[in-house]
Amino acid sequence: MRTQLLIDGQLTQGEGIAESILDAARGHALAEVREASMPQLEAAIAAAERAFAGWAQTPPRDRAAVLLQLADRIEAQGQAFAELESLNTGKPLTAVINDEIPTIADVFRYFAGAARAQHGLAAGEYIAGFTSMIRRDPVGVVGSIAPWNYPLMMAAWKLAPAIAAGNTVVLKPSEQTPLSALHLAPILAEVLPRGVVNVVCGRGESVGAPLTAHPRVRLVSLTGDVATGQKVLAAAAGNVKRTHLELGGKAPVIVFDDADVEAVVAGVRTFGYYNAGQDCTAACRIYAGSRIYDRLVADLTSAVSSIRVGLQRDPDVEMGPLISAAHRERVAGFVQRAAEQKHVEITTGGKPGSGSGFFYEPTVVAGALQSDEIVRREVFGPVVTVTRFTDPDEAVQWANDSEYGLASSVWTSNVTRAMRVASRLQYGCTWINTHFVLVNEMPHGGFKRSGYGKDLSVYALEDYTVARHIMIKL
Ligand code: NAD
Repeated sequence: MRTQLLIDGQLTQGEGIAESILDAARGHALAEVREASMPQLEAAIAAAERAFAGWAQTPPRDRAAVLLQLADRIEAQGQAFAELESLNTGKPLTAVINDEIPTIADVFRYFAGAARAQHGLAAGEYIAGFTSMIRRDPVGVVGSIAPWNYPLMMAAWKLAPAIAAGNTVVLKPSEQTPLSALHLAPILAEVLPRGVVNVVCGRGESVGAPLTAHPRVRLVSLTGDVATGQKVLAAAAGNVKRTHLELGGKAPVIVFDDADVEAVVAGVRTFGYYNAGQDCTAACRIYAGSRIYDRLVADLTSAVSSIRVGLQRDPDVEMGPLISAAHRERVAGFVQRAAEQKHVEITTGGKPGSGSGFFYEPTVVAGALQSDEIVRREVFGPVVTVTRFTDPDEAVQWANDSEYGLASSVWTSNVTRAMRVASRLQYGCTWINTHFVLVNEMPHGGFKRSGYGKDLSVYALEDYTVARHIMIKL
């Protein structure tokens, strides 16, 4: 298990305090990782700054070749990466191997191609005797701050477009889940010129905040909580830094009376509970038409009670634990307060799991009202609410009545209705008769307090570059 940071091409132990890294499924410590000290953080930022001019001038073809090597190396060590990720987060190993590793490798491959295929506006003479043209150039040193729910995938979503566009990076993984990024560090050191990517560990207050506030960091990219996004914005204001924010979500799932109930139940059983619901796009807030409501609640309850929960290496396990004891307490608090409402029924789950890990039962909360806390706030756990609606307009209004705006879905057999509703939803993504499916070619990002940074797709390359005007006097 690697515990060394990557600073200026060198692998080196952190010199700050030691953080215990836990196995979320068993609750015991796996390793100790020492944080970056302030001189180490300074050194990482200085190295990224020194590396910038050379990397920014490296032709896209050569940057692409490096990204393709990274993809190959991650794939070649896919089993080792998956084992570390699953050991630390508690996720089922097969899910990491089958779902995460292939898409992580593909993110690097996608941006390798996209970096070579950027298109600009035509140059022209907008004043006689002067030719104007547009360039898209990298921003400089990027501070990338990742969350714990998909540690390596979030690192990949940040690294690939940033370096494809010619930026250099200081990456800070979550203090709870640094192991996969630290396993990537020697590969980054081998494949990239020194300083292009640096990996520093540490908590938000001790390492994330100074990285965010640093005057030489020109863009901060955060995937995390809304409150963290607000802190990053406040710190960025000090030196008018660019920010790329991907914050929380509370995805509405509008199920019309003419929907295929079996498909909805199968979809929500998968997309509401994947990664134990610790996913900002999780299908967690169902609005069900009044005619379909009773059957949906009954069938969903029985489907969800059959989700197999357990340890990482059991090939039949579908759901692992939550990330920490504190997070499980937070999730349990939401469910307990919901259960105290007379109109609410917990039809399955609603209790912590057994053992020393941080398990929580897959839970269905039926009868929840739009005004209930559990419908309005992000739970980030294996908890799905079902709310009955009678008027389709009301369902759309409730769906939009949220501070979040990341992902949503509409389930109906009427294509016209699906398209009308999709056009009215204020969410970065709306799926029709499915949920959760991401592709590297399409943008991922939100509205409102879910933030405004786009990950994946050519829109991420735009976010990591600056449009510039070059004018030539003829
Ligand atoms: P978090 O905000 O607690 O932590 C995210 C990262 O920010 C960590 O690396 C942390 O160390 C760092 N951080 C904390 N305080 C900081 C500060 N003051 N300055 C700089 N960095 C700081 O979030 P989390 O608990 O790791 O992740 C869960 C949250 O992330 C959920 O709200 C979830 O919805 C959101 N999320 C969003 C997306 C998306 O694409 N929109 C994807 C995954 C997770």
